[in-house]
Amino acid sequence: MTRLLVRGGTILPMTARQDIFTGDLYIENGEIRGIYPGAAPAELVGEANETVDARNKLVLPGLVNAHTHAAMTLFRSYADDLPLMRWLEEAIWPAEAGLTGDDVYWGTMLAIAEMLKAGVTTFADMYFFMDRVAAAVADSGIRGHLSRGLVGLGPNAEQALAENEALFREWHNGADGRVRVWLGPHAPYTCPPDYLKRVMALADRLGTGLHIHLAETRTEVEDIQKQYGKSPTLLLDSIDLFERPVLAAHCVHLSPEEQAILARKRVGIAHNPESNMKLASGVAPVESLRRQQAVIGLGTDGAASNNNLDLIEEMRQAAFLQKVHLGDPTVMPAYSVLEMATVGGARALGWAEAIGTLEAGKRADLILLNLAQPHLAPRHDLVAHLVYAARGSDVDTVVVDGRVLVRSGKLVGLDEERIMAEAQKRAIRLTNTVELAD
Ligand SMILES: [Zn+2]
Repeated sequence: MTRLLVRGGTILPMTARQDIFTGDLYIENGEIRGIYPGAAPAELVGEANETVDARNKLVLPGLVNAHTHAAMTLFRSYADDLPLMRWLEEAIWPAEAGLTGDDVYWGTMLAIAEMLKAGVTTFADMYFFMDRVAAAVADSGIRGHLSRGLVGLGPNAEQALAENEALFREWHNGADGRVRVWLGPHAPYTCPPDYLKRVMALADRLGTGLHIHLAETRTEVEDIQKQYGKSPTLLLDSIDLFERPVLAAHCVHLSPEEQAILARKRVGIAHNPESNMKLASGVAPVESLRRQQAVIGLGTDGAASNNNLDLIEEMRQAAFLQKVHLGDPTVMPAYSVLEMATVGGARALGWAEAIGTLEAGKRADLILLNLAQPHLAPRHDLVAHLVYAARGSDVDTVVVDGRVLVRSGKLVGLDEERIMAEAQKRAIRLTNTVELAD
């Protein structure tokens, strides 16, 4: 039996507003068994077979990246500063056409290495060759919420749906419960209502949820409006898509009525402020959604539109973007952004019974941030430090499911050099064949 003791840290459990105290955390077989303000009972200290020294460290739940396409790290900084459709049609899609399962495995491994080192313990992924993404999750020790991206228009619609079902049957609750599988209808503009209804029927039959892109750009909203006489959000609502667990990425262009629908139906919203800024998609109304108690998580989107997977940086940008956009420095306070990156993301992924907070009975996904650094001194408000002053590289220790995966800022058990070399080799091969017009 593995018994891990995290000693003497400043614990931020994210269970109650601003609850923060010094204490110990005791983990047994991957589960948090007890959190002890002050110190754990002496008999537990004696039983631990591994101890993490958390003095001068902030201990908090592992971060949840609520929306990404992990293997797109292979296309990081390869085509930037282009209009969205040119970026997709001339750069990303042609490069993606050459992807193999092995490429996706190594691209995902690169993303996992980057995310773990910056404190992300769970990520929601939508891509293809998802069995290889699941293998990367299993091999690395991270937690993954995986969906096969489904495009209803085009020749692969049926095969993709069959692959998503096969992925569910092979991997849902796999890797000791670290993998969950949802279905991944890509977006209303790539999945017509008839196809969406078939995806919904399959999700209901399997007892799982849907991960979809929604209302990301103004063009999407206008096109869907033209085609169906309704906005994307109202179109999905009219076919009752929100009557099951749904993770909706972006949700940038929403009317007040649509915001109320998403809040009321408990749709998980994955807010990706850096991707939205970089692709000039717009500013999602997250402050308004937050005030309506909507379920909101924070995501990076893929590394091709970010270009990193640092969720700590994403928190800061999320807060700053709302403040400048609304002309009000009081909106999106630090704690609310931190909630989005932890417990909010866990709720959006339908995983909050197991992760997202530090509580006895939950899985032991937690991170330790090194506070003994000039840019985190002096210590006033540690939550403000974390959201406004910290960086991903401040993460010292990462524990997922009770296993230490990062120690002293270094990956334990993953060969970082090999991962970077494999990714480099594959990225060159994939992009060499594509010629970008001036
Ligand atoms: Zn996306």
